[in-house]
Amino acid sequence: MKIKERRQIIVDLVNDWGNLSVGFLAKKFKVSEMTIYRDLNELEGNNLLIKTTGGAIKISESLVHTESSFSKRLKDHNKEKKAIAKKAVEYIKKEYESLGIKAAKADGNYFQKVPLEIKKTPSGSLTINEKEHRIGEGFLTFASSKGSFDKVIYAGYGVEEGDYSDFSDIDVKGKIVLIKGGEPKNEDGTFTLSGSTESSKWGNPEESIALKDELLQGKGAIGMLYYDMNNYQRFNRYFQYMKNNDSGQMSIKSEDKDTTFVIYLNAGVAKELLPDIDTNHVPAVIKASLTVATTTENGEIASENVAAVLLGSEKPEEYVVISSHLDHIGVTTDGQINNGADDDGSGTVALLEIAEAFKKAADEGRGPKRSIVFLHVTGEEKGLLGSQYYTDVDPIIDLEKTVVNLNIDMIGRIDPKREGDRNYIYLIGSDKLSTELHELSEEVNKEFMNIELDYTYNDENDPNRFYYRSDHYNFAKNNIPIIFYFNGTHDDYHKPGDTPDKINYDLLENRSRLIFHTAWEIANRDTRVVVDKAIK
Ligand SMILES: [Zn+2]
Repeated sequence: MKIKERRQIIVDLVNDWGNLSVGFLAKKFKVSEMTIYRDLNELEGNNLLIKTTGGAIKISESLVHTESSFSKRLKDHNKEKKAIAKKAVEYIKKEYESLGIKAAKADGNYFQKVPLEIKKTPSGSLTINEKEHRIGEGFLTFASSKGSFDKVIYAGYGVEEGDYSDFSDIDVKGKIVLIKGGEPKNEDGTFTLSGSTESSKWGNPEESIALKDELLQGKGAIGMLYYDMNNYQRFNRYFQYMKNNDSGQMSIKSEDKDTTFVIYLNAGVAKELLPDIDTNHVPAVIKASLTVATTTENGEIASENVAAVLLGSEKPEEYVVISSHLDHIGVTTDGQINNGADDDGSGTVALLEIAEAFKKAADEGRGPKRSIVFLHVTGEEKGLLGSQYYTDVDPIIDLEKTVVNLNIDMIGRIDPKREGDRNYIYLIGSDKLSTELHELSEEVNKEFMNIELDYTYNDENDPNRFYYRSDHYNFAKNNIPIIFYFNGTHDDYHKPGDTPDKINYDLLENRSRLIFHTAWEIANRDTRVVVDKAIK
């Protein structure tokens, strides 16, 4: 029998029977199970059936809370992702529409726009006494700057602390100011501020630029020309790295604020303004014509969170937020797709399944007392940006009204380094802010699921610091108790091999049920979960 023929028969059989095991098919065709797995992979790739952990099911199967339901969702979700990012949010939106769960935003839009930008290095020039320098050749800056000046104020080290000030005889308001790195010294070589050989924060290159910049801003200066012979090479390496790295650094788009600009000068350019700058520490007015013009075209990216809400029957003004991230890391440099089935396709489909279960209960008149927000956030992989936008810039639901955040990020796989029962999940953060939440979570698990709850990564001293590395952290930093559900990492983590066929659908289902039961208890108990270990 030809391969093609065998595969057609498999499809027909699966469609007739609903589901079939690999063992059965191997026996029937007298081939190895390996061969059948290959067949199923191929057929699944052509959307003819869905491969499960032990066999295959037909593609139309869509029972609620069964393996097929998870699997199909994950597959659809992943297929959509392969086109463009917009399809992921459209897919999620459509799911909520068909479930009949409303948008969380008052205007009825499921999308919360999250404006992101990619920082790019600027281009432009600095002209001193008619001599032009291109950026990267003698000077550097990381932002836009603009201005023409007929003098530059030299402020020595640009330090002010206690009795010491480089600003007592000069006025920098509305001016461009030249300062140098380091801090003042006495004639005997000790530092002026400490009176000893110990340098202060003003001499620490990591801290001093920000300190000096802040001081100048406070004094109303327009810009800072910064000369630091010892660190210019370091700034230059960073500048070149930024320039060569197309993708740059992504962040939430900030409004253009009126801050001082900072321009880093190398020794040659600094000495065009003040030839003895290395030995001269005395603040003075330097007559020089100086024009600076650098512009940066930060790339803008329109991105969206998707948020839906099911209003509570008794305490609708208190909300439980369940979240998962909808983004992943894109394609590899050689063009392979990083599928992200576990990270965080698993969390995405779990959240949809949980939403469906809550809606079903509500439709039967047994809905949750408190409201539930289903929040799919963007930009997690770029630095928790979608959740940061939600908590810091535009909380759709007041943070004071947010009772708990349960965050789901990777719950479909097994950590190969972990020993013990495969029916486990790592729990992180449950006891950090609320003893009640932790106890509730334990009790619910004992009563309904009996999954092994592994707290390995909950240890404050764990070097992975997972508590700080997914979206729940933006809620936790606002004293909203959280639980982070996580299966740990694996060999396919952030690689193209993170595919739906490697998901353990039985575990994904168990873990989703645990999160559902936990959310249910939080939403329905008489009193709001108490925060007894608030930070700050
Ligand atoms: Zn993730």
